[in-house]
Amino acid sequence: MSEILLLVEAKDGALDKKSLELMQGALGLGRQLGVATCAVVAGSDTARLAESAASFGLDKVYRLEHPLLAGFQPDAWVKGLEWLCGQVNPGIFLLSHSFVGKEVGPRLACRLNTALTTDCLGLSVDPGDGLLVRTKPIYGGNAIASLKCEGVPQMATVRKNAFEPVGEAQSASAIVEMVPDIGEDAIRVKSIKMVEQEVVELDKANVVISGGRGIEAKEDFDMLEALAAAMSKSHGNVMIGCSRPVVDKCWMSSDRQVGLTGTIIAPDTYIAVGISGAIQHLVGMIRSKKIVAINTDPGCNMFKVADYGVVGDYRDIIPALVKKLEEQR
Ligand SMILES: Cc1cc2nc3c(=O)[nH]c(=O)nc-3n(C[C@H](O)[C@H](O)[C@H](O)COP(=O)(O)OP(=O)(O)OC[C@H]3O[C@@H](n4cnc5c(N)ncnc54)[C@H](O)[C@@H]3O)c2cc1C
Repeated sequence: MSEILLLVEAKDGALDKKSLELMQGALGLGRQLGVATCAVVAGSDTARLAESAASFGLDKVYRLEHPLLAGFQPDAWVKGLEWLCGQVNPGIFLLSHSFVGKEVGPRLACRLNTALTTDCLGLSVDPGDGLLVRTKPIYGGNAIASLKCEGVPQMATVRKNAFEPVGEAQSASAIVEMVPDIGEDAIRVKSIKMVEQEVVELDKANVVISGGRGIEAKEDFDMLEALAAAMSKSHGNVMIGCSRPVVDKCWMSSDRQVGLTGTIIAPDTYIAVGISGAIQHLVGMIRSKKIVAINTDPGCNMFKVADYGVVGDYRDIIPALVKKLEEQR
């Protein structure tokens, strides 16, 4: 098989953590298959990004440089990446299951006449036929499917936190500069307007305190905020998350939702308040190092996965916890 290729993404000018995770997954596949693992960095001023991507043990970093690739212009990126695939013929092409990956992946797969498996949790190689095996949740997260697909390159988008981020290597990879053939006529979107929005990155929190349908009123989230404030003095970055019914009620934005259709997180501590523990929620937080559940129902599913559980009404438990934390200061 020819090389494995992955698309690198940047955040605030630096390598996005999701790309480091993707590198870890891709390098593992490269070792199993005995093929080169390469990355592509696309943009109009990619020198620094390419250099940092080159320090993680990849065989090559393609620096796809073109004025039309500035920022993220999906039409141009699809065209540029299609051009690159024509040049290097990757056997496998991996993208993060991010805004960029979700926009570019399906369109690129269609242009390359191949299949794409989205939102993968794991990647491996079938030793029998050497094909890429992609695992992903199906039926609302009640089952995990293992899939192999026809078509080259074998394409997948991979969820964040599916792999540990790769560490820096001792030697730098080769950087190959390329200018793709992209005409102005490739761009159909004429302008993109950025909308100011609060950035919520639950996966960066040390502690996530989530409220569920058991929280009776929107104002009761103030209790969770008070607990977050008390804990943040000793536990670092503490953020508020929620289960889906809370988003459905428009009490919180969807970027605070934990679970299958929300964010997958693995904080040091996860505190589930009034959350029953439906499978679609559990898949989002089951990798937390310590799980604490507060629930009135002793038989609820959340207690089955919790390290610590308190049976009771959150309106009694949380103020008592806050008081205790304040006393300990
Ligand atoms: C395709 C699909 C995708 C989904 N994706 C997600 C997802 O990403 N994230 C997600 O969260 N859900 C998701 N869901 C919904 C999921 O199936 C559950 O419906 C949801 O997680 C339930 O949320 P909950 O635990 O807050 O509510 P409930 O299941 O209603 O649980 C409420 C809990 O609160 C407890 N409680 C009530 N009063 C109190 C009190 N005073 N003090 C303490 N405890 C109290 C109850 O005992 C109960 O256990 C998805 C569903 C589908 C079909």
